[in-house]
Amino acid sequence: MLSIVIPLFNEEENIPKLYERIVGASPTWNSAFEAILVDDGSTDRTLSLLRKLYQKDSRFKYISFSRNFGHQTAVSAGLRYTTGDVIAVIDADLQDPPEELYRFLDKWRQGYQVVYGVRTKRKENIFKRSAYYIFYRILAWCSSIKIPLDSGDFCIMDRTIVDWLNVMPERNRFVRGLRSWIGYRQIGIPYERHKRFAGEVKYTFQKLLRLALDGMIDFSYRPLQVSGIFGLFICFFSLVSIVFFFLHRILGFRVFGYSPQDVPGFTSLILATLFLGGAQLTTLGLFGEYLGRIFDEVKQRPLYIVKEQDGFETKKEAYNT
Ligand code: UDP
Ligand code: MG
Repeated sequence: MLSIVIPLFNEEENIPKLYERIVGASPTWNSAFEAILVDDGSTDRTLSLLRKLYQKDSRFKYISFSRNFGHQTAVSAGLRYTTGDVIAVIDADLQDPPEELYRFLDKWRQGYQVVYGVRTKRKENIFKRSAYYIFYRILAWCSSIKIPLDSGDFCIMDRTIVDWLNVMPERNRFVRGLRSWIGYRQIGIPYERHKRFAGEVKYTFQKLLRLALDGMIDFSYRPLQVSGIFGLFICFFSLVSIVFFFLHRILGFRVFGYSPQDVPGFTSLILATLFLGGAQLTTLGLFGEYLGRIFDEVKQRPLYIVKEQDGFETKKEAYNT
């Protein structure tokens, strides 16, 4: 059986079409399916539409959060509710076409445990496209594991992978990174990412930034190392200057006829101070990001709270122990 996890946040306009497209594409999958729709604290009619959908077609099960917990959390929760042998994750706005899933399933049947979509063409504006482009390159450079370039959460995963994801305790989840971290045989398939079918983008700039930080920070120490190396570089540079200054004071030493006193000092002094202050604060902020994440983990709060669900026998705990 195939389980399809779909996070929804205020997607009322997309639900009828989503249903139609999934049911339409399902004969190509050669397998039974269930859809697990995760309402991420929507404030529009999403939840009532999901209730009706389940009444109409019991393959479309749903859970509903007590508030907005975010896309990655919604995906993680949905994964815990799956029962299929193979699991797909798609967006509710039909940017990831269900009609492509049969190609993914073919690869899975050939023995790949993770088959992820790689975006060939994006239909977003140039600013967003370049931001994504740069982000994925920085991410690749930062992280200690190999996270595939330009691939989002659109994928199918074998039960083994999902079982591993479900026992991972972390609160700040970057699902596509965790997915690569698990390993096994993984492969990317290029696909064209379409425009959102209806409605506005639900990822605000702030949420996107948070996601980007999670990606960079949860998988490496590289950002910390960079600030360390940068600090060392500054130290070395100032040590050389100090030596030069003393030699000048004591011996009247000059380089190319210059002495430190020949240079008017104020501007350079202020610039150096400001620059270093800035660099220190940035590093402190970086530490803060790591510290905040440690704080999140230590609190041991549940990942999400389900206020309503239908189609499942039990409630899946958001805790692991
Ligand atoms: N989404 C969610 N919670 C959020 C934001 C988004 O569940 O807080 C869902 C949204 O309904 C959609 C998917 O995540 O199904 C991707 O969101 P969106 O289309 O806004 O982002 P993008 O396509 O730009 O990545
Ligand atoms: Mg979208």
